[in-house]
Amino acid sequence: MKRVLVTGSSRGIGKAIALEFARKGFAVAIHYGGNEEAARETAAEAGRLGAATTVTLGADLAEPTAPARLLKEAAQRLGGLDILVNNAGITRDGLLIRMKDADWDAVIATNLSAVFGLTREAVKLMMKSRWGRVVNVSSIAGLMGNPGQANYAAAKAGLLGFTKSVAKEYAARGVTVNAVAPGFIESDMTAKLPEKVRQEYLKAIPAARFGRAAEVAKLVAFLASDDASYINGQTIVIDGGLYAH
Ligand code: NDP
Repeated sequence: MKRVLVTGSSRGIGKAIALEFARKGFAVAIHYGGNEEAARETAAEAGRLGAATTVTLGADLAEPTAPARLLKEAAQRLGGLDILVNNAGITRDGLLIRMKDADWDAVIATNLSAVFGLTREAVKLMMKSRWGRVVNVSSIAGLMGNPGQANYAAAKAGLLGFTKSVAKEYAARGVTVNAVAPGFIESDMTAKLPEKVRQEYLKAIPAARFGRAAEVAKLVAFLASDDASYINGQTIVIDGGLYAH
């Protein structure tokens, strides 16, 4: 039975990922930022779906010492840690010339620096047990860029360089590190898009629809499995064909 921490699993894509691991009977740590109630609901659903155990942990990942603390607490409560999914993320969109320092800092702290802090602690545990999986949730914005998202795209592109580097450091110890880069997925994050923008994006997506969180969850679960043991340092795009290159 594997033990997994999914950051930002109170809702959205992270919730779907946590539930996918629950179906496999794993011990699942559900992490939230501010939504404790939602995290408890995710945990209850995970329990119904077959999770061996569930724990809920709150931490503001924008706070510098929180990531390492969260990882240690998750490992302690689960009795170890085999899989880390770095999913929590935010947007603070705006054109560059209007972007506030605080918007830049919050996005880099939450979407990139927190992943560094969490992964550093996770890998220490995984290399000892000679098996581990880290899956980082990036975005096609990190590959393509997106107007109004200089901060977000920089953080998500940063994740890809981080993924490739750490993948090369610990592969010989059975630890793989991969990234997924979703396109537009139905979630609270994309619900914020104005209808006109949404329609424009839909025109550009060959699948002619936004993706579902459950579809991303299946991909993450595969990368976290034994079946993906020789996939390392990769970025798997999941976007309905939008970023075909
Ligand atoms: P949501 O906005 O639906 O959920 C975000 C999650 O992250 C929540 O669980 C939230 O916790 C948590 N979170 C946010 N800020 C913090 C913080 N400071 N500290 C701790 N937790 C925090 O996002 P999505 O499900 O849409 O996105 C999940 C990931 O997928 C993100 O990394 C996002 O960038 C990426 N992604 C999303 C796409 C999409 O189309 N939706 C496309 C490509 C990538 P709480 O609610 O408890 O505050």
